[in-house]
Amino acid sequence: MKIIDVKSYPLRCVLDEDEVFGWAQTWVRSRVTTLIEIATDEGISGWGESFCFYPEPISSIVDHVYKPILLGKDPLDISPLWERMYNSTRSQGQKGMVICALSGVDVALWDLAGKALGLPVYRLLGGRFRDKVQAYATGLYFKRRKKPAEALVEEAKGYLREGFRSMKMKVGLTPKVDIEHVKAVREAIQDTVLMVDANCAYDASTAIALGRELENLDIYWFEEPVPPEDLEGYAKVKAALDIPIAGGECEFTRFGFREIFLHRALDIAQPDICAAGGLTETKRIAEMAEAFGVRCIPHVWGTQIAIAAALQFLASLPRPTPSMNPIEPLLELDRTPNPIRDAVVREPIEPKEGFMEIPNKPGLGVEVDRRALERYAVK
Ligand code: CA
Repeated sequence: MKIIDVKSYPLRCVLDEDEVFGWAQTWVRSRVTTLIEIATDEGISGWGESFCFYPEPISSIVDHVYKPILLGKDPLDISPLWERMYNSTRSQGQKGMVICALSGVDVALWDLAGKALGLPVYRLLGGRFRDKVQAYATGLYFKRRKKPAEALVEEAKGYLREGFRSMKMKVGLTPKVDIEHVKAVREAIQDTVLMVDANCAYDASTAIALGRELENLDIYWFEEPVPPEDLEGYAKVKAALDIPIAGGECEFTRFGFREIFLHRALDIAQPDICAAGGLTETKRIAEMAEAFGVRCIPHVWGTQIAIAAALQFLASLPRPTPSMNPIEPLLELDRTPNPIRDAVVREPIEPKEGFMEIPNKPGLGVEVDRRALERYAVK
């Protein structure tokens, strides 16, 4: 089997004015992604996704850098192809958009391998530890409303009605406003599992002060308290607080995560499969995390392709500790407005009572709907 074509699909959808939402750095006015298709001479295609904020440069990297490397090669040589692609940009692309583009290609190669061999990807990753995974609702972003706390409470109650048993909310405006919001949500959802995410908004001392107040509000983890470059700051926050510290969506490859682990910066590592180096690299990162006593709960912020890749990965992820009541991993399930998310596949995978079943079909287990690729193509 040989690769005969590599196509990238940069996608964008502008949100309606009433759908606009925000996190610590920005208001989100449009949703974007880049999907990648790898075609073979046997008529089988694999699909991947690159997590990105700017789809055009990702598409350009795939078309101009990786496609010439991949054409004519055996797609089942996933690791050798990963090394060739990584080495081709290593001197100028150890992190960032280059690795995001590589991630999408890697996910497409795994999907293709599964389809070619008639096996779900989790089988190729070593088999499955679970057939379903608890999904947590990622939502509760900043809103441009007169009474934001009331809007957050209404949204949180909606997740409870949908059956979610865990959810994550944004902090990072000011510590005072953050605590008002978290208190309001905590009261509304009672003892449901709640995480907070500051999206790098604070320095270490502010994050510690905020974290001490959050400790009274039963927070399951405190995500990205400080900027990703400040590993000493992360380590300070982690040492000062009882709440587990999570992060890693802005880090790339095993080499980047090695530095996080050596700094003892995290309790929970959150590599994004579609950004950190694909399934190939995220498996390596997860194995290294386990060796450092760090839990791995991938970051997911994409379409059903990214969700399907995360489900296959989570199926194969070992439990962090041996126990009759083990700590199970969670699936991050973005619930914010994104018309592209479900439209790209024919049968979206839906949560049931807060859990997602892991597909057993070959590859990632989803079928792309090409109509969405035309509808949301970047103009
Ligand atoms: Ca996050």
